[in-house]
Amino acid sequence: MKENDFYDVVILGAGIAGSLCAYQLINKGYKVALIEKNAQPKRKICGEYICPDGVKFLEELGLSDSLVGRRSIMGMKLVSPSGIEVDTFFPKRNSNKYSIGKSIERGLFEKDIISKSIKLGLDFFPNTKIDKLIQDGNGHWTASDGQNTWRGKLLIGADGIQSIVAKTLNLNKKSEHRKIAIHAHLQRNNLLPDLGQMHVLRNGMYVGLNPISNQEINFSLVLDKKFFDNSNGVNTFVRNLIDSYPILKKQIANIEETDHFNVLMPISKKVKSIIGKNAVLMGDAAGFLDPLTGEGMYSAIKMSKLLAEQIDLDNIEQSLSSYQTLKIQFFKNKIQINKIFQLIIKSSIMSNLIGHFLKTHQYFANQLIGLIGNIYTPKTFIQSLFLKFKNKGY
Ligand SMILES: Cc1cc2nc3c(=O)[nH]c(=O)nc-3n(C[C@H](O)[C@H](O)[C@H](O)COP(=O)(O)OP(=O)(O)OC[C@H]3O[C@@H](n4cnc5c(N)ncnc54)[C@H](O)[C@@H]3O)c2cc1C
Repeated sequence: MKENDFYDVVILGAGIAGSLCAYQLINKGYKVALIEKNAQPKRKICGEYICPDGVKFLEELGLSDSLVGRRSIMGMKLVSPSGIEVDTFFPKRNSNKYSIGKSIERGLFEKDIISKSIKLGLDFFPNTKIDKLIQDGNGHWTASDGQNTWRGKLLIGADGIQSIVAKTLNLNKKSEHRKIAIHAHLQRNNLLPDLGQMHVLRNGMYVGLNPISNQEINFSLVLDKKFFDNSNGVNTFVRNLIDSYPILKKQIANIEETDHFNVLMPISKKVKSIIGKNAVLMGDAAGFLDPLTGEGMYSAIKMSKLLAEQIDLDNIEQSLSSYQTLKIQFFKNKIQINKIFQLIIKSSIMSNLIGHFLKTHQYFANQLIGLIGNIYTPKTFIQSLFLKFKNKGY
C-alpha cells in the first residue's frame, strides 16, 4: 500500500460541494487532498440551474469569472397542470442591480474550480474510488482505495447521496421518499426567453427545463416511482408524457430511441447528524430533499462557505459543532417551504388555482420567485408584500 503525505484535510468527492470547499480551504492555507472516483468531474443528473443567491455567493468567493459565458436566467416560467403559463422575473436585490440565476455545465464548472485550486496548491487525486475509511486513536482518518492511502486530521464527506463517509459514520437515516428522477440533455426546439421553467404535471409529477444553450435544453422529470414501474421503456414513457402536454411538446424536439435518459433513485437522503469525530458531511452527503425548488447546488455552495469559515484545526470539535448549528439555522425555513410546495403540487386543482392567481397578480408572482431563488428569506418576502400593500400599489 502506497502512503501519501499527511494532510490537514482529506475531502472525498469533487462535485460542486467538494471542489468549492477545497478551493476555500486552500485559500485559508490548509494542506488539502481532494479525491474523486471519476477520471474527471463530469456532467450529472442535475438541472444545472444556480439560483440568484447562489450566483451571489460565488461572486463573493471571487469566482465570478467561472460563470462568464454561462447563460443568465432572468426568472422562471411556471406552468400549471391545465397549462396556465406565468412568466416571472427575479426581483431586483437592490435598486441598481438585477438578480440573475445562471445555467452552468456541471463537470466543466467543477473542473474550472479544481484547476484554480491546483494552482494554489491543492493535491487532486482523480480516478480514485475510496472504499475504506479508518480512524486511529488520535482521531486522524485514513482513506484507502485498496492501493493507496491518504491520512488527514479532518475528513470531509462531499461524496454525494451514496456517501461512504455517512455510511462509515453510521449517520444515514431511513427515507420513505419514493420519487425517481428521469434526466437528459435534449435538443431545443425553439428559442423562448432566458427563463428556467417549472411545469407541474398531473399526479404530483413535474418537469424542470433549463435552456443551457441555443441548441440544448436540460430536462429533469421527477415522479413517484409507481407511475413509471410498468412503463415500456424510458424513451417511450417520456415521449408519451411530452405528447400529452402541448407546452412541453412545442419546445422539445421529438424523443428518439437514441436519446439517452438517466434514471435516478432514490433522489432524497436523510441523515441523523452531519458531524462525527473529526469528520463532517456537506452537499448531498449531508441530506437532500427534492430538486423542486432547485436548491441542491445552492445548498452545496452555502455549506462549503459555512464550513470553510468555521473550520479551526486546533479546535475541530467546536468548529464542526458551530458549522452544524449554522447549517440548521440557515436551511430550516427553506426546508419547510420546499415541503409546502411538495404538498401543493400533489393536487392539480390547487396547482391550477395558484397558477390562475399568479397569472393575475404579476407582482406577487415575481416576489414568490424571489423567495424560491433565495433573493428573499421568508421574513423579507412577507415584509416586501406588506410594504406593497401599505403603499396601496398591489
Ligand atoms: C433531477 C435533478 C435535478 C436537479 N436540478 C438541480 C438544479 O437545477 N439546481 C440545483 O441547484 N440543484 C439541482 N439538483 C441537485 C444537485 O444536482 C445536487 O444537489 C448537487 O449535485 C450536489 O452536489 P454534491 O457535490 O454534493 O454531490 P455530487 O455532485 O453528487 O458529487 C459527489 C462526488 O463524489 C464522488 N464520489 C462518490 N463516492 C466516492 C468515493 N467513494 N470515492 C471518491 N469519490 C466519490 C462522485 O463521483 C461525485 O463526483 C438536481 C438533482 C436532481 C436529482
